[in-house]
Amino acid sequence: MLRVWGDVSVGTGDDAAVLDVPAGSRLVVTTDTAIEGVHFRREWITGAEIGYRSAAAALSDLAAMAADPLGMLLALSLPEGLTPSIEDLAAGVKEAAHRSGCPILGGDTNRAPVLSLTITALGHARLPVRRSGARPGDTLYVTGKLGGPGAALRAWLSGSQPRPDHRARFVYPVARLDEAKWLVEHGARAMIDVSDGLSSDLHHLAIASGAGIVVNLDTVPTALDVSPLQAAESGEEYELVIAAVTQIDCDEFVRRFGIPLTAIGRVEAEGPGTVKFEASGTRVDPVRGYDHFSR
Ligand SMILES: [Mg+2]
Repeated sequence: MLRVWGDVSVGTGDDAAVLDVPAGSRLVVTTDTAIEGVHFRREWITGAEIGYRSAAAALSDLAAMAADPLGMLLALSLPEGLTPSIEDLAAGVKEAAHRSGCPILGGDTNRAPVLSLTITALGHARLPVRRSGARPGDTLYVTGKLGGPGAALRAWLSGSQPRPDHRARFVYPVARLDEAKWLVEHGARAMIDVSDGLSSDLHHLAIASGAGIVVNLDTVPTALDVSPLQAAESGEEYELVIAAVTQIDCDEFVRRFGIPLTAIGRVEAEGPGTVKFEASGTRVDPVRGYDHFSR
């Protein structure tokens, strides 16, 4: 793996990595596992794509805390003699790490009956943004457009090939690290990344904040040929949902980052811990969470 990683790997010559955390910053740590047959199937995506999206998922959790990456560690288990190779997987991890400016601090490989990758990402932040900061009166915003990964999964599970744009959203998610820091500077005070689906992740935010959340389904930004309901149920998006105390200039956001920022709802005092979806003023119920291959 070291040969593949080249100068993206840092400090891998010792038994353990040694890191400096900038004075006044908190250490932010997250870990994420992707398992063949649970999170992906080998016949759908390449080894490099498996490596990339696993690393991007871990980096997205750092983004959701408004943290800067310090480095990542990889634990890889894979069957003997099967594709993809360690080199393919390592190349995908490298691409995601390089794209986010995150050094690779070390890795461990083992032979096992099933392919799995565990990525631990470390970051630092002066003021990590948590899920618990949303307050009544806040506006909810989401980055990007939702529904592509869900549409890709629906296609694969029905035995067809997903559209290229939907497939790309599944295999090449982007950790919104710079966007997160900008959003915090512009009023975001609670944040979560969309990994389990908008509905599930907003529930996490509503419960942590002790507030109610109302989403206007008509305003949820969708990938092409995806309905708002499908977009709200799609997971592994790795877009950010934030609650902001101020109105954010969405035009400035799209000019700066090239992706939309959309107001999709509000935080209320009523119904603490609950999420309501409305369309054309009437309640839409239920919006399912995303449970990998359960559909
Ligand atoms: Mg997360």
